[in-house]
Amino acid sequence: MISLSQYVEDISRSATTIFEGLAVTFSHLLREPVTIQYPDRTTRPVKEMLPPRYRGFLEVQIDICGACKRCEKICPVDCIKVEMTRDPATKQNLLTRFDIDISKCMFCGLCVEACEDGATGAIRHTREFEGAVGTLDALVFRFVEPGKSRPLYKTPKDKSTIPVGEVGPHAIEARERALRDNPPLFAKLREEAAAAKTGT
Ligand code: SF4
Ligand code: SF4
Repeated sequence: MISLSQYVEDISRSATTIFEGLAVTFSHLLREPVTIQYPDRTTRPVKEMLPPRYRGFLEVQIDICGACKRCEKICPVDCIKVEMTRDPATKQNLLTRFDIDISKCMFCGLCVEACEDGATGAIRHTREFEGAVGTLDALVFRFVEPGKSRPLYKTPKDKSTIPVGEVGPHAIEARERALRDNPPLFAKLREEAAAAKTGT
């Protein structure tokens, strides 16, 4: 059996705790909210507020892919599938499949590093992140149309001459990013575009 003083002390502590909790709750009524409604109440487009090295959906600039499979081999969750076939007429290897199952991707960036280090930089993260789709299959990005094939890109010795491709569902994003990451190439392409405009 507890003493009267202990009983009073318990009641007092309970009351104090309740008021402390309410004080915290009410103090939040007067604070600026930390969370904001997405996407309609942001002061700037969300894409502009992403960190510079944000890893969004992957993009493959398929016209500069040599099908070396570095990306496929390094992917820890096997979400990249690269397949080739040999054209019996020309004896050339052709790329017949380049799929990325983005629903499995954990955006680790290993494939991007592998391609940048040993190949052409064809695979990149874009700043795209809004991926709501009706079916899981729609999250498989197919960079070679099923049933079709394309020639393999032969990597030049001077990698600064690798062109920036424009093929793929997020190509514009990837292209902008590629240009941001490669200032000399960006400057060169800008000069070329200006020359083409003036017809010089
Ligand atoms: S590492 Fe690059 S060049 Fe090689 S298959 Fe992958 S995307 Fe293509
Ligand atoms: S980012 Fe990582 S998980 Fe996603 S495809 Fe590349 S290696 Fe695989």
